[in-house]
Amino acid sequence: MLSTYLSSVLQALFSLDEFKERYAKEGEEHFEKCQEFPPDCFHCQLSKVAIGLWSGKHSVKKETKLKLVKGPDGELVEQGPQVANQ
Ligand SMILES: [Zn+2]
Repeated sequence: MLSTYLSSVLQALFSLDEFKERYAKEGEEHFEKCQEFPPDCFHCQLSKVAIGLWSGKHSVKKETKLKLVKGPDGELVEQGPQVANQ
């Protein structure tokens, strides 16, 4: 799969300290001074990926709340969030 290949290439590149320094640490600074249209700027786009990878914002597990409901025999059982039918 192309996406798997691309993902492994990005992970390998961003494990390099030089990549991390240039795109993750200096990315915010670049955003402020960049004069190009962001979708056309290679540095902006790689900085977005780097900041996304290193911020930890996308690796937070979502907490779901379970509620207790009465089961068929009257005992309390945990019920998770309902999944919408498609
Ligand atoms: Zn830029």
